[in-house]
Amino acid sequence: MKFFKALACATAVAAVALSSTVASAAGYPERSITMIVPFSAGGPTDTVSRLVAEAMSKDLGQQIIIENVGGAGGTLGAGRVANAEPDGYTVLLHHIGMATSATLYRKLAYDTLKSFEYVGLVTDVPMTIVARKDMEAKDLKGLIDYAKTHKDTVTVANAGIGAASHLCGMLFMSAIQTALVTVPYKGTGPAMTDLLGGQVDIMCDQTTNTTKQIQGGTIKAYAVTSPKRLDVLKDVPTAVEAGLAGFEVGIWHGIYAPKGTPAAVTERLSKALKVALKDPNVAARFAELGTAPSPEADATPAALKAKLESEIARWKPVIQSAGQYAD
Ligand code: ASP
Repeated sequence: MKFFKALACATAVAAVALSSTVASAAGYPERSITMIVPFSAGGPTDTVSRLVAEAMSKDLGQQIIIENVGGAGGTLGAGRVANAEPDGYTVLLHHIGMATSATLYRKLAYDTLKSFEYVGLVTDVPMTIVARKDMEAKDLKGLIDYAKTHKDTVTVANAGIGAASHLCGMLFMSAIQTALVTVPYKGTGPAMTDLLGGQVDIMCDQTTNTTKQIQGGTIKAYAVTSPKRLDVLKDVPTAVEAGLAGFEVGIWHGIYAPKGTPAAVTERLSKALKVALKDPNVAARFAELGTAPSPEADATPAALKAKLESEIARWKPVIQSAGQYAD
C-alpha cells in the first residue's frame, strides 16, 4: 500500500514537472533572451553570434541580446551561463574552447559535461596564421625562421588560455619546437587592433576576424588551417602546403543553455538555429568570411553533445603532451 501511495505521489510530482515544462515551453520565448559571448565585442565569436542571433530572433519573435563576457579564454562567460537560471532566457555561444578548457584548466567554475544543456552546432571556422603588415617574412617558412631567430622578443597574440587562438598558437609553437612570447587579450577583436598597429607580431585567428584585413592588405597572411584553400583567400596556402605537416584545425561553435533548461526549450532554440543557418544573409556573410553554416542535421542538441564529448577526448592527449595548464 505504502509503495502504491509513493508511486502515485511520484507520478503526480512528475506530471506537475512535465506540465510546467510543457507550459513554460509553450509560450516560450515571452521576452528577450541573453546570449553570452565569452569574448570581447568586435571579435570573430562575436561576429558569428550577432549574425546568428539576429536570424534566430526573427524565428523566435523575440530579440536575442548579445552580452560580451570576455576573460580567462572564454571560461568566465561559460561560468556565467552555467550559473544562470535554466529558463531559456540565458544561453551561451562558445567554440572549441569549451572542449579544450576542460583539460587546460585544473579548476573551472563549472563542469563542462554536467553544467549545460545543448542546442546545436553553428559553424566550423578555419584559422589563419597572420602577422603585422610590415613583417619581413615572405612565406610561412620565412615566418618560422623569423620566429626562431627572434624567439625571445617575437609576440603572439591570443584571447587567453582556452581560446581558439591559444590552441592554434600552441600547435604552431609545438610544430616549430619553439616557445614564443604570448600576449593574452579578452578577445581577438582587441588583439587585431594591436596587430594592425604593429604592437604585436603574430596571431592565429579565425577567418571571421582576419579575412577582410587580409584582403585589404592591412595584415599579412601566411597560411589557412583548412584542408583546402579558401575561395575568399585563394592566394593563401594551407598550412600543410606551406610545410606544417598535419596542421589542420577547425573552430566549431555551438549554443548551450544552463543545466536543467527544459528540453522543449532547447528544442525550440534548435529549431530557430536551423532556420537561422538557412537564412540567405547568414550564409552569404559566412561565405564572405571564409566559413559556412553547419548542416541542418548538426544544429541539434544530440550533435553538439557528441561533438563536445569527442573533442574533449581528441584534444586531451595533445594538451597533456604540451604540458600546458592553467589554474
Ligand atoms: N578568436 C578568439 C579566440 O581565440 C575569440 C574571439 O575574440 O572571438 O578564441
